[in-house]
Amino acid sequence: MSAPIAFYVQPREDDPTRGHLILQCSHSSSGECHFGLWGRPAVDITWQWNGSIDKPTISPSINCKGGCGRHFTITDGTVR
Ligand SMILES: [Zn+2]
Repeated sequence: MSAPIAFYVQPREDDPTRGHLILQCSHSSSGECHFGLWGRPAVDITWQWNGSIDKPTISPSINCKGGCGRHFTITDGTVR
C-alpha cells in the first residue's frame, strides 16, 4: 500500500479562476509539486479545473513525472 495522496488547491488571489494544485511529494526537494490550474480546457502544463477548492475536479489526470511517479485523477475532491 502506498501512502494516501495529500493535496490542496490554492486559488490565485488576483484571479480565482486560476490557481495551483499543490501535491505533497517526497521526491521533490521542497516536499511539494505544483500543477497549474485554470477554468479552461487543459493546455500544455495547465490543467482544467472546476473552480472548487473543497471538491475540485481536475483534468486530465495528474502524473508526477520525474517525481514520485504517482498517476491519479481528482474528481469532486476524490483521488482515484
Ligand atoms: Zn510526486
